[in-house]
Amino acid sequence: MSKAKLNKRIDMIEPSMTIGISAKAKDMCETGISVLTFSAGEPDFDTPENVKRAGIEAIKNGFTKYTAAGGINELKDAVVKKEKERNGLDYTRENVCISVGAKHSLYNIGAVMLEEGDEVIIPAPYWVTYEAIVKFTGATPVIVRTKEENGFVLDKNELEKAITGNTKIILINNPSNPTGATYEKEDLQFIAELAEKYDLWIISDEIYEDIVFDGYKPVSIATLSDYAKQRTLVVNGTSKSYSMTGWRIGYTCGDKEIISAMTKLQSQSTSNPTSISQMAAVEAIIGPQDSVTMMREKFEERRDYIVKALNEIEGLTCVTPKGAFYVFPNVSSCYGKEYEGSKINNSMDFAMVLLEKARVAVVPGIAFGEDDFVRISFATDLDTIKKGMEALKQFVNALK
Ligand code: PMP
Ligand code: GLU
Repeated sequence: MSKAKLNKRIDMIEPSMTIGISAKAKDMCETGISVLTFSAGEPDFDTPENVKRAGIEAIKNGFTKYTAAGGINELKDAVVKKEKERNGLDYTRENVCISVGAKHSLYNIGAVMLEEGDEVIIPAPYWVTYEAIVKFTGATPVIVRTKEENGFVLDKNELEKAITGNTKIILINNPSNPTGATYEKEDLQFIAELAEKYDLWIISDEIYEDIVFDGYKPVSIATLSDYAKQRTLVVNGTSKSYSMTGWRIGYTCGDKEIISAMTKLQSQSTSNPTSISQMAAVEAIIGPQDSVTMMREKFEERRDYIVKALNEIEGLTCVTPKGAFYVFPNVSSCYGKEYEGSKINNSMDFAMVLLEKARVAVVPGIAFGEDDFVRISFATDLDTIKKGMEALKQFVNALK
C-alpha cells in the first residue's frame, strides 16, 4: 500500500515543540520517573471557583447545544466591555470573533488574510506557533531578530529594513513568549507609524497582558491612532489570565470584514467554541478579578527567584522578564561540552540531555528561533523552581 499523500504545506511545519516536550515529560512521569517540568506554558493554578461554577451552571441550565459560530452575544459583550474599560478601545459585537483558544484565533486570521507571496514580520525570539501558522498558509515569515543585550527589545531600524512590497502584517506579542520582553509606548507608536506609512496590518497578541511585573502597564497598539485602531487585530483569550488553558476560549477584536470572514470560516470548520466554556469565559472576564491579582503576585515572586538563581549559575546569563511567565537564559557557554559522555552542541542537545540525565524539562530555544537559549516556564510552584534550579546548576557545573 502506498503512503498517504499529504498536502505539501503540512510538511512545511513541525509539531509544536512546547507541547511535544511537555508530553515527553508527562510520559516520563507516568512511567514513574520524576521530572521537574518547566516546559509547559500554562499556569499551574486551578481555574478560579467562580469560573468553574459558571461552567457547571451552564451544564445544569442545558446550555449544551450549538451556539452562533463566532460566539455568543454575552461573551462578545463581555469582551467589548473589557476592551473598553481596560484598554480604552471601542468595539461592537461585529468587531469580535470568539474562537477555540487564541491559537485558533491566530490560525483563522492567517487563513482568511494570507496567501502565497505575502510576508509577515515576526520579531524573534517568537512563540513557536506564529511561524508555523504563517508557513501553513503559504505566506512567508520574515524574522527580525532581537538581541539579548538589548533585553530582546525590537530594534526600530531592523524592523523597517525588513519591510518589502510584499509585507502584509507585523505581528507583535506584548509581553512576549518566550522572553518576557515588553514594548514601551514609543516603540508601539513607531510600529503604528510604520504600519500607516507602508499600508500594513498589525496583529497584537496580548494574551499575557495581565501577567506583568514591576508596575509595567501594557498599552494596546490599537489605541495609538485611528489608523492603528482600524488596522490592528487584537488577539487575546482566557487561557493565561484565568488559568483556563483546557477550556479553549480565545478572541479577536478588529476590522468587521476580517471578523466576518473568520466567523464564516468557523461556521464551515469548527462551528462554535464550546458553549459551556463560553459561559465560563463571560464570568472570567466580567466577574471578580482577585484571582488574576493573586496569580500575578505569585508569578512576580517566582520571577524574582528564578532570575537570580539563573544568573548565579556560572556561564549562564538571564534577562529579567517584565511580563509573561517565562525566562529565556543564554546557555551557549555550555555548547561544545559533554555530560556523562553526551555531547551538547545546541539548544536541542541541551534540553534533551538535561531531561534524560537530570530529569529537568525545558524547551530548546531553537523552537523560538534562537539556538543559544532555552525557555524555562515559571508557571510552577516555588518549591519545584528551587529544586529545578539546583538540579540545573549541578548539571551545568558537571559539564566537561
Ligand atoms: N499566544 C501566545 C504568545 C501564547 O503563548 C499562547 C499559549 N499557548 C497562545 C497565544 C495561545 O493560547 P490559547 O490557544 O491557549 O488561547
Ligand atoms: N503557549 C504555551 C507555550 O508556549 C502552550 C503550548 C502551546 O500552545 O504551544 O508553551
